[in-house]
Amino acid sequence: MTNQAKIFKKQSAKIASDLQHRKTINFNISKYDVAVQAGKLRFSDFELAKEITADIKNEVINRLPDLLIEFEENAKNNGIDVYWAEDANSLIEQIAEVLKDEETKMLVKSKSMVSEEVELNEHLEERGIESVETDLGEFIVQVAGEKPYHIVTPAMHKSKTDVAQLFNKHFGTDLNLSAEEMTDFVRHYLRNKFLTADVGITGGNFICAKEGAIAVTENEGNAFLSASMPKTHIVIVGIEKVIPSINDLAKMWPVLAAHGTGQQLTVYSNVFFGPKKINETDGPERMVVFLLDNKRSQLYSDPEIRQSLKCIRCGACLNYCPVYKNIGGYTYAATYSGPIGSVISPHFKDFGDYNHLSFASSLCGKCEEVCPVKIPLTKLLLYNRQQASKGSFVNKSMYSVLSDRKKMDLFSGSIKNLMKESFQHQLIGENKDLSDFSSKSFSKQYRKNKKS
Ligand code: SF4
Repeated sequence: MTNQAKIFKKQSAKIASDLQHRKTINFNISKYDVAVQAGKLRFSDFELAKEITADIKNEVINRLPDLLIEFEENAKNNGIDVYWAEDANSLIEQIAEVLKDEETKMLVKSKSMVSEEVELNEHLEERGIESVETDLGEFIVQVAGEKPYHIVTPAMHKSKTDVAQLFNKHFGTDLNLSAEEMTDFVRHYLRNKFLTADVGITGGNFICAKEGAIAVTENEGNAFLSASMPKTHIVIVGIEKVIPSINDLAKMWPVLAAHGTGQQLTVYSNVFFGPKKINETDGPERMVVFLLDNKRSQLYSDPEIRQSLKCIRCGACLNYCPVYKNIGGYTYAATYSGPIGSVISPHFKDFGDYNHLSFASSLCGKCEEVCPVKIPLTKLLLYNRQQASKGSFVNKSMYSVLSDRKKMDLFSGSIKNLMKESFQHQLIGENKDLSDFSSKSFSKQYRKNKKS
């Protein structure tokens, strides 16, 4: 077992028995459940809506390289600077160049999981640049010195009381503030940051190839302010975020909102077409888009695992996963957690060190059932498990024997049981036992009975 797997196991056991954690998560996910059930009813045919969004993402996967080239060309025509980043280092260095050009001391940032993936804030801090998170949940975890707990709701693990105590400690606010009062406090705190930031950084939910535009969906207006108030707007997105056209947003946005928060549409749906034009009064003077690979093309090169690139980061599979609900987001020790994280994080990180995440699933199939773009998550988890098994000499040898009846019959039942005792926990985990082999295999018994 790798060190990472040992840490994961220990942490899982700890969090699963933490009753306060369970209470907070169950409370927050129960609110999500109610909202999503109501959200689904707004569709005349919810399953058809999912089919349509899945089809769009299938098309994306089939045409990914061409769509990206199309996006680049059209975005440049819109006056957007487009750069490609092969990995996290390349992205950080290129962003640092832009920030240097703009003499950036402070920037505002709206929630972006890609920026978490490359640990952008930490790198900016090392360079003496203040990066202020402006999404309420992300702001809370930044103040707490933590990472996002969930891809859609970063502070899902915190109760109202937790946040009141945190704000009291950091800002001296009253411990008895209501949720509305705390939100109001953050709104005023951030307003000054928006007004004085040199640069705004956002992610992008979708990038539209045909129009060369960036689509961002949000509930707080912070992405819109981050994009439009500072004089430079930087967008960082993974290459899988491309969709053929702005027309697809009419199908993608409602399905994303329904699965992410249960809303009909998020409160703000923005499409950014570039920096402000000569006859426009508002908007950034410069817009830069970074297209991040960071092992995505590696995922793309595998015909099975490339299906994970269809993910629109709605978070539904996390909320329905019995394992995630028990062990919590931090236990995965990865930016992307839950079922989709268990599929992609081992590939994004070191597969040898992190493939244990693909075993962190009961394979109940709920994740796959709720996924709006129909990613076959259980199949991909099993695929990863298979890849992980292939890497080990013991597993390779066992697979070669177990998958071949003739080889199996070379050994007596007692030898097979001896081997089983030696290797079973290495193969299927410490808490499970395989059944005993009988002294004679079924085929041997069958042949014997047939003769007599
Ligand atoms: S895998 Fe599917 S359900 Fe999970 S976050 Fe991605 S789109 Fe949503």
